[in-house]
Amino acid sequence: MQAPRAVPDLAALAAAATRAVEDCRLCPRDCGVNRHLGRVGFCRLDLEAPCYKALLSHGEEPELSPTALLDLGGCSLRCLGCSEWDHVVDPWRAPAVPLRADWLAARLARWIARGARTISFVGGEPTVHLPAVLKTLAELPAPLRLPVVWNTNGVLGPQSYSLLRQVVACWVVDYKVVDDGAARRLLGAGPLAYIAEVEATLDRIEVDAALGAAGSVGEQGLPRLLIRHLLVPGELERSTLPLLERLSQRWPSAVVNLMTMWLPHGPALGSAAGPAALRRVNLDAERAQAIAEAQWLLGARLRVDGKRLP
Ligand code: SF4
Repeated sequence: MQAPRAVPDLAALAAAATRAVEDCRLCPRDCGVNRHLGRVGFCRLDLEAPCYKALLSHGEEPELSPTALLDLGGCSLRCLGCSEWDHVVDPWRAPAVPLRADWLAARLARWIARGARTISFVGGEPTVHLPAVLKTLAELPAPLRLPVVWNTNGVLGPQSYSLLRQVVACWVVDYKVVDDGAARRLLGAGPLAYIAEVEATLDRIEVDAALGAAGSVGEQGLPRLLIRHLLVPGELERSTLPLLERLSQRWPSAVVNLMTMWLPHGPALGSAAGPAALRRVNLDAERAQAIAEAQWLLGARLRVDGKRLP
């Protein structure tokens, strides 16, 4: 029998997150700094969340769309091919504005009238913004509290997971590479134990999904866990194929979105920062092999570039 669904006390969770960043370990960077005193940690964030893009998006997976998409600057990783690089390394870069409930409420009312089903927090990495995000959600009028989609790099640790587990309706977790050497080389993850951190997050979500113990207000049949994997040029054999195998076995409830439309962004565009393959798109043969393997391993759980295969 499933446990009764808990209704989150958003104000209490926001207060807990605000206290937590006095000795910030919201992510496994474990900076241990007091963010009440300024932008002093790895993520260069204090208590405010810079929102640099806010729109009603039809471009996420069909299960989530249309979604009120909020891009927040700053991150716990430094991925070489990041499409949001400028906002990751400089979170308050224009046109960022502080995330506020009154600012968001006016937009949400319009987007809900146009069909918004969910609210998606994206980055960068939204987890580093927990105090501001939870406070904003707590202050929103109840009719505007759409089911929350948390689009994360998966590196978030037990404290942040416990603050989020009753708030998030759908976890969208990026799983990018399958060894820590690649994580250091491609994701700027050093000295984090990237694989262990992402897999611990996925395990926590899977356990909660099985227990039915966590949830959020009004879930609308969303998948509890959606794992995204981006096929990176030159990484098919080393990352994508072993990762697909792993996804097929270890997280059986997850929907998996294999994303194949890599475009060079961020430092991947530079001449010396990373492998030359990162400066091209995926070859047709790489894409076809990845899709065929994923189809074999994942069946109906697979999406390719957000869509079900015919
Ligand atoms: S959230 Fe920011 S300050 Fe806190 S541990 Fe992570 S990187 Fe460091």
